[in-house]
Amino acid sequence: MKSQAQLTGRVIFRGDPGYEAARKNWDPHTDRFPKVFVFAQKTQDVANAIRWARKNHVPIRPRSGRHALEGNLSQVNGGIVIDVSDMKKIQLNKKSGTAVVETGNRVGRIVNTLARQGYIAPFGDSPTVGIGGITPGGGIGPLQRTTGLISDNLIELEMVDAKGRVLRANKKQNSDLLWASRGGGGGNFGIYTKYKFKVLRAPAKATVFHIIWPWNQFEKVVKKWQVWAPNTSTKLGSELSVGPKKGGNVSMLGLYLGSKSEAIRHLEPILSVGTPTQKTIRYLPYIECTKFLLAPDPVLTQRFSNQFSSSFGRRPFPNKAFKVMREFLEKAEGGTPAGFFFLNWGGAISRIAPRDTAFFWRDPKFYVEWNSSWVKPSHAAKNIALVRKTRKKLQPYIVGSYINVPDQGIRCSGPVYYGKNYARLRRVKAKYDPNNVFNNPQSIPPAKLT
Ligand SMILES: Cc1cc2nc3c(=O)[nH]c(=O)nc-3n(C[C@H](O)[C@H](O)[C@H](O)COP(=O)(O)OP(=O)(O)OC[C@H]3O[C@@H](n4cnc5c(N)ncnc54)[C@H](O)[C@@H]3O)c2cc1C
Repeated sequence: MKSQAQLTGRVIFRGDPGYEAARKNWDPHTDRFPKVFVFAQKTQDVANAIRWARKNHVPIRPRSGRHALEGNLSQVNGGIVIDVSDMKKIQLNKKSGTAVVETGNRVGRIVNTLARQGYIAPFGDSPTVGIGGITPGGGIGPLQRTTGLISDNLIELEMVDAKGRVLRANKKQNSDLLWASRGGGGGNFGIYTKYKFKVLRAPAKATVFHIIWPWNQFEKVVKKWQVWAPNTSTKLGSELSVGPKKGGNVSMLGLYLGSKSEAIRHLEPILSVGTPTQKTIRYLPYIECTKFLLAPDPVLTQRFSNQFSSSFGRRPFPNKAFKVMREFLEKAEGGTPAGFFFLNWGGAISRIAPRDTAFFWRDPKFYVEWNSSWVKPSHAAKNIALVRKTRKKLQPYIVGSYINVPDQGIRCSGPVYYGKNYARLRRVKAKYDPNNVFNNPQSIPPAKLT
C-alpha cells in the first residue's frame, strides 16, 4: 500500500461508505469521481494530505463549501479532494474589530454568528457558499457598496503551500500572497485554512426589499435599473434577476442600511417603472434582514446543472444588448433558475484602486451574470453553447469576468479575470507554487523565471 497511513483527518476512499455524499457538489455539472476525500480536522491534516498527494503523484483540489460553478475546480477524477469543511471555528475580537474564521465555514454561519453579536459579515445571495472559496475570488453581494468585497476585508491568512508548509500572510509578512489572495481566486497558491477579517458594527435595524414585475416588463426595468442602481445611495445594494421567458419574472432583492422612509425615497425611481406585482419593503432588526436575504440553499439536494458566465458593465446596455438578452431568455429552459442577474457596483468597491488588490474590476457600474439550467444530462451541450454564444454576442457591451463565476469557454482567460493584475499574479504564483501543484483548467500559471 502506498503511504496511505500518512493521510490524517476523516479519510474517505472511493468505495468507502460516505463516498457518494462526499462526492456531491452543489452543482451536478461539476461532479467528478476523485480517488479520495480528506476532511481535514486541523491544519496539519491539510499539510499531510498535500505531502501524500505529491509523493503519490495524485492531483489535488482544495474544497470548502462545494459551490464551484465549473467542472474540475473543487473535484477531479482520480485525484484527492482536500476538504476543509469540518474546520469551522469563528472567533470575534470586538476590541480589535476583527474576526478569525476557519475556512470550512459557510458564509451564512459567519453572518449569523457575527450578527448575533452586533457585527456585519458581508454576504452574497446564498448562505451555503464556502468562505474558503468565495474570499480569494472576491466575494460580491448587496453589502459591498458599504463594506467592499469580502476579500477587501481580509487582513491576514493562514495557508498550507505545495510543500506542506504552513504560511501566514499579512501586511508585513508574505504581503504579496495576501495581495494575490484578495481577488486571485481559490485553488491557485495553496490551501487556505484561516482568514482574519476586519469587521464593522451592524446597525440595529435596516430595510430590506423584494419587488417583482411581470417578465414582459424586463426591458424597461433593467434599463431603468442600469442608470439608477449604480448612482443611488451607496447604502443601498440591489440584486436584479430576470428569469426565463417561460415561467420567469423580474425580481429585485436588496437592502438599505437605513430607515424605511429613506429607503422608499431612494427606491422611488425604480418602483415607478412598470406595474410591480409585489412590493415588499420591511424595516427589520439587522439579523432578520440577513435571514430575509439569505434564503435556505441546501447543497446536496440541488437538481439543476448550470452553466454560468459573468462580466461587468461600464455603461448601460444599448438596445442591441437587450436583443441578445431577450434571445437568451427565450431559449433558456422554462421552470429552471436560468436567467440574467445584475448587482450594483460603486461605493466602497471603487474606492480601492484596481492594482491595490488582485481584484481588478473596480470601475464598472454593475456586475452581470447569466446562466442556463437543465436537469437531463442530454441537455447539457445545448445549454452550455447557449451561454457561451450569448457571451460572444454581448462582448461589445461588457468587460472582464468574475473568477468566482467562471466560464471555461473563455479562452486566454487570465487578463479577462484579472485585467492588468494578471502578470503580477503569475509572479506571485511562481514564488509560492513554482511547480504548479495547485492547478485547474483556468488557474494562474507560474511566470517563467528568466
Ligand atoms: C448558489 C450559489 C450562489 C452564489 N452566490 C454568490 C454570491 O452571491 N457572491 C459571490 O461572490 N459568489 C457567489 N457564488 C460563487 C462562489 O463565490 C464560488 O462558487 C466560490 O468559489 C465557492 O466557494 P466554495 O468554497 O463554496 O466552493 P468549492 O467548490 O469548495 O471551491 C471553489 C473554488 O475555490 C477553491 N477553494 C475552496 N476552498 C479553498 C481553500 N480552503 N483554499 C484554497 N482554495 C479553495 C476550490 O479549489 C475551487 O477552485 C455563488 C455560487 C453558488 C453555487
